[in-house]
Parts: sequence; C-alpha cells; structure tokens
Amino acid sequence: MNTGQNLPLCPRCGVPYKGLHYKEVNGRTYIYAYHGKQGKKPALCYLGPADGYIAVEQLFALGLTNAESVDLVQVAYSAASLFQIRARRASPDERKAAAEKLRQLAEDILHLAQDLEK
Ligand SMILES: [Zn+2]
Repeated sequence: MNTGQNLPLCPRCGVPYKGLHYKEVNGRTYIYAYHGKQGKKPALCYLGPADGYIAVEQLFALGLTNAESVDLVQVAYSAASLFQIRARRASPDERKAAAEKLRQLAEDILHLAQDLEK
C-alpha cells in the first residue's frame, strides 16, 4: 500500500502529490500537482509555468543532482520556497518570524547582487 510517504510534497498545499500534469494554454505550458480525483474532477494545485523561474522537479531535491550543471540560484530559491511551505503550517507568531527570516535573506541576497555590480 502506498501511504504517500515517498511522494513529493506539493509546494502549494503541502500534501503529497501523485504526479505532475501539464496544461498548454495559448502556447505556454503550465504545471499542476495532481492529487488524485475529487469526485470526477482531478484535484490539481497550480505550480507555475513550465518555462518559468520555478523548476518544479528541482524544487524538492533542491537541484543538487549534478555538481557540474547545478544552478545555485535555483537551489537558493528552492530552499527558500521549501522554508516558506513548511512555515505555512506554523502558528501565526512562527509564520511572522519565518517571514522576517525570508525578508532578511532577500536583503542579504540583494547585497550580494549589488556587490557584483561594483
Ligand atoms: Zn497541492
């Protein structure tokens, strides 16, 4: 029996999902997490555009599959996303503290970018 423990967690709702669905609209492909059927309709969570900033497949493994081609910016974004997903389930005070941590991280990253432009 599959208890869902080995399935990846949905970045939207935090529940394990069974697979990815791709929908094409006006020439762009959008990715959804498939949670099974809800009545006759598939239960889907929108994850983002397939060609967008978020590489969904990398989100859960943080993109650390290949040291040669690793996209460190993607890894950083994925880690921050995972942190945010987990913080959503916390108490209001803990969510506030988590939001502050993300804001501080964003400022630190901005300083790195500004340092590059000097
Ligand atoms: Zn979901």
